[in-house]
Amino acid sequence: MDHKYKPESLMMSYGYKPELSEGAIKCPIFQTSTFVFKTAEEGKAFFEIAYGKREKLANEELGLIYSRINNPDLEILEDRLCLWDNAESCAVFESGMSAITTVLLEFLEPGDLILYSRPLYGGTDHFIHHYLPKIGIGTVGFKPGQDRDEIIKLLEDTGKPGKLKIIYMETPANPTNELIDIECCKSIAKQYSQPENEVLVVVDNTYMGPLWQHPLKHGANFVIYSATKYIGGHSDIIAGAVLGNKELMKRVKTLRTFLGNMAGPWTGWLLMRSLETLKIRMEQQQKNAIEVANFLHKHPKVKKVNYLGLIKEGSKEHDIFKKQYSGSGAMLSFELKGGEREAFRFLNSLKMIKLAVSLGGTECLAEHPRTMTHAGIDDSDLKEMGITDSMVRLSIGVENYKDIIWDIEQALNKI
Ligand SMILES: *Cc1c(COP(=O)(O)O)cnc(C)c1O
Repeated sequence: MDHKYKPESLMMSYGYKPELSEGAIKCPIFQTSTFVFKTAEEGKAFFEIAYGKREKLANEELGLIYSRINNPDLEILEDRLCLWDNAESCAVFESGMSAITTVLLEFLEPGDLILYSRPLYGGTDHFIHHYLPKIGIGTVGFKPGQDRDEIIKLLEDTGKPGKLKIIYMETPANPTNELIDIECCKSIAKQYSQPENEVLVVVDNTYMGPLWQHPLKHGANFVIYSATKYIGGHSDIIAGAVLGNKELMKRVKTLRTFLGNMAGPWTGWLLMRSLETLKIRMEQQQKNAIEVANFLHKHPKVKKVNYLGLIKEGSKEHDIFKKQYSGSGAMLSFELKGGEREAFRFLNSLKMIKLAVSLGGTECLAEHPRTMTHAGIDDSDLKEMGITDSMVRLSIGVENYKDIIWDIEQALNKI
């Protein structure tokens, strides 16, 4: 009888055959650079497929050749990551940044235009602003809250809307947690697509994935992760992933082969280990975040809390929230009454919660976006984006929520 298992039930074994590895219940670390062909004919066939010289025959798999092209620890991990987003294909990278830059470099050509949401992760923002213009690519940003007509006006004002090739976004925005409507962006992409030139929608889903938001379902062509965050989940690896349909992913994987920025087998193995507990970690982090958000929301020293669970019903944002998210996540930011002095006093007074950037790990982290993760952004832009001197960002971990709240409360009392 056919039974469709849920992803969390498949994370322990999917895609791995113990009989190929001496019966080991877990996939070993295939710490090898190259693979032995059984015959010269087999080697020839593998290369024909790898170099796209002919199509695969029915039931023919790409054989193992060399670990820059493929390795069992990456292939099995990629198959497992596909399950969460219901994707056809996945490529794992040595960092989130290498995943992002590989997609942008593969699909953008000199003269093209990229439309992107602001604020973006600092590394991505830097690449878009300082690298892409060097190779002749135009860039135009839009803000969460801008509607379809306003975004189209920005696009038309560039004078070359017909050159639009990629719409790139992060939703919710970091650190303000404002939402962007993926389906609306898809409709803009469709409007500017031509028969031989599809405008691609790319979503960095690091903040909410792979559990609480599935951009491919809303029309995105690619979903990208910094696997350093929730997917790795233990603040001990740097890695990235891209998912999408087979045809587009073939191009991503080909460029990965030639840039050589795939993850190694050890990273692949650690990420498979992390995936076994992904759902329970993220669910616990979310439960804790809800408690923390409710606590902060009522605290007299707190001016404003930005958390998906606190979006007002009936608002336009709430409509996006309802259609696009299955949870409120574990990332929140809040503004203290006061300025940098008050924010720093709070951060310096924390006892259990660590003062560090990054997010999605098992431990709580706190940071000051204005002077840390978002320090590279111009003052006027920061103001426009609502990233203030008194804002603190929290990534909530799996600790007991009472301990987290105790720590936050005692630090607030020091202000
Ligand atoms: C961390 C992060 C990245 C970059 O990922 P690395 O693994 O550090 O290269 C990209 N996007 C978002 C939203 C991130 O949080």
